[in-house]
Amino acid sequence: MDSLLAYSQNHAPEIAALIRQLVECESPSDSPAAVDRFVELVSDTMAPFAAVKTFPGGRFGKHLVCEMKLPGRKKSGQVMALGHSDTVWPLGTLQSMPFREADGRLWGPGVFDMKAGIAFFIFAVKALRDLAMPVPSRVLLQLNSDEEVGSDSSRPLTEKNAARSQAVLVLEPATGPEGKLKTARKGVGAFTIAVRGKAAHSGLDFEAGASAVLELARQIERIAGFTRLARGVTVNPGVISGGTRVNVVAAEARAEVDMRVVRLRDAPALEKKFRALRPFDERCAIEVTGGLNRPPMERSPGVVRLFRKAQALARDMGVELGESLSGGGSDGNFTAALGIPTLDGLGAVGEGAHAPNESIRVDRIAERTALIAKLLAAL
Ligand SMILES: [Zn+2]
Repeated sequence: MDSLLAYSQNHAPEIAALIRQLVECESPSDSPAAVDRFVELVSDTMAPFAAVKTFPGGRFGKHLVCEMKLPGRKKSGQVMALGHSDTVWPLGTLQSMPFREADGRLWGPGVFDMKAGIAFFIFAVKALRDLAMPVPSRVLLQLNSDEEVGSDSSRPLTEKNAARSQAVLVLEPATGPEGKLKTARKGVGAFTIAVRGKAAHSGLDFEAGASAVLELARQIERIAGFTRLARGVTVNPGVISGGTRVNVVAAEARAEVDMRVVRLRDAPALEKKFRALRPFDERCAIEVTGGLNRPPMERSPGVVRLFRKAQALARDMGVELGESLSGGGSDGNFTAALGIPTLDGLGAVGEGAHAPNESIRVDRIAERTALIAKLLAAL
């Protein structure tokens, strides 16, 4: 049998134990002290076989960059494994959603997105070292502390390390029960539409008022029309607010709108449409802010080549790997937008990211760990 797969199978209980440790160290994005504790736990785990550095994360926790000590004499080029230390789960979630193993799965906050992926990478490195398998490139691991909240603080560091790499392997969760990799991700934008109208008593003085709520409702209908499903363009007015009382013509209203694109070249035209919004009722004023904050990860020839390589390596283990387009963004969007071949979704197979049923499949732990190891040995 394949030695990396055998190693991963033999160590599956240890991998599960590390996942448990990582999940039980809660790390919500908005608690820098908690994220720093998590970063310290990962650093301590890696210290025996990596040079560990941290970078300030502003109002978030520290970002972690580790350079692996791997077998093989002459290293040329660099491969970066990329992930995040933060989760969407507030401190104390473990009380209602404790880590547990049941029904062939590991359950707990952040287990799928994406603490299992971090554990797989750590054991992939251990496997290569213990089996003395030469690795041709320098290997970095970067874990960002602010991925779930937009990656503003980590983005420059991600881009700097990606620019020096010939490939980026993203340890985010796989797609679906088959465990498909992600060869494309939509780009993500956010807009706020603020409408200012004119307040008036709805009974005494109705005609003197200009309703911001009515104006916003009309604008929402227009904005929703920007969606082009066939091109992978979606526009979602996700949050609205406005008005003060039922008998007052509303003076203020606002909407927060999410925009997704498959192709970078669709973004400027959409941004222009948002900026060009003009009021139906001229007594109202509209202010539009926002724009694209994550470029799409496009399925470039470099991405496809990387995927084909992973597919061949998986086939050697008897695993058939599929690919998918994800509507959600990751830090892989930034590295792919630089033109660096990026393969995403190398983490766990499971379901329920950001949801109470968050869980990963135990029977896929070994194969995913071995796949990461094989990629590191091949790139
Ligand atoms: Zn994630």
